[in-house]
Amino acid sequence: MTTIDERLQQVRARIARACVQHGRDPAGVRLLAVSKTWGPEAVWQAWQAGQRDFGENYVQEGVEKVRSLRALGASDLVWHFIGPLQCNKTRPVAEHFDWVHSIDRLKIAQRLSEQRPAGHKPLQVCIQVNLDGGANKAGVPAAEALALAQQVAALPRLQLRGLMCIPEPAPDFAAACRVFGQLAALRVQMQGQLQGQMPEQRLDTLSMGMSDDLEAALASGSTLLRVGSAIFGPRAYAAGAAASVSGKEK
Ligand SMILES: *Cc1c(COP(=O)(O)O)cnc(C)c1O
Repeated sequence: MTTIDERLQQVRARIARACVQHGRDPAGVRLLAVSKTWGPEAVWQAWQAGQRDFGENYVQEGVEKVRSLRALGASDLVWHFIGPLQCNKTRPVAEHFDWVHSIDRLKIAQRLSEQRPAGHKPLQVCIQVNLDGGANKAGVPAAEALALAQQVAALPRLQLRGLMCIPEPAPDFAAACRVFGQLAALRVQMQGQLQGQMPEQRLDTLSMGMSDDLEAALASGSTLLRVGSAIFGPRAYAAGAAASVSGKEK
């Protein structure tokens, strides 16, 4: 049996190789371990193997894990919310997470800003962009990303950090790079436009790349990889995903 520790080492080795191959500085790449559907003991094992950033998709499951890990004495974890977020679920996210990658409308951002506790650092956020144009997919169309970013950047308890995407699986490396390249280009363009109005605003984060396409994402400029199954193993649910999306525990 491959352990989480071994799989983490394999993922780190893949990242190191891809950085060499594509001329990337490894210091500019952050690895997020996507622990959705896995219990606190899996997170604990990854934490013992040196992993600090964790990603969760479901509010209730995520908050329970944040609490469990704190109770186990692991206090230096950084928790990222990366799933779809409904208005009535924003408060626990504002209270327990450090990052939210899936901002795709102003209402959600406003609520998170209002609900962020005063003693906490500003919530670090990314705008999720729908690059494929799929009608039922989360994310704002690229053409609307700048307008949303301007509004989000003005909210007092949020810090806008960049862009996130979850493209459809691409048939090959070149096709994956084309899609990721669109998000990278959008970031550069938006950075220029935002900085004219808000000089200290930096879009330093490109949250893109998962277990199967992290090399293409790194080749295209990703600064934050969201990797689940390559670290924790295959998730037990597949058909059951709908139940988790509706907010229930797995
Ligand atoms: C599940 C998930 C991931 C990780 O996917 P893997 O293919 O298991 O690496 C990354 N990002 C988001 C938004 C996810 O929901």
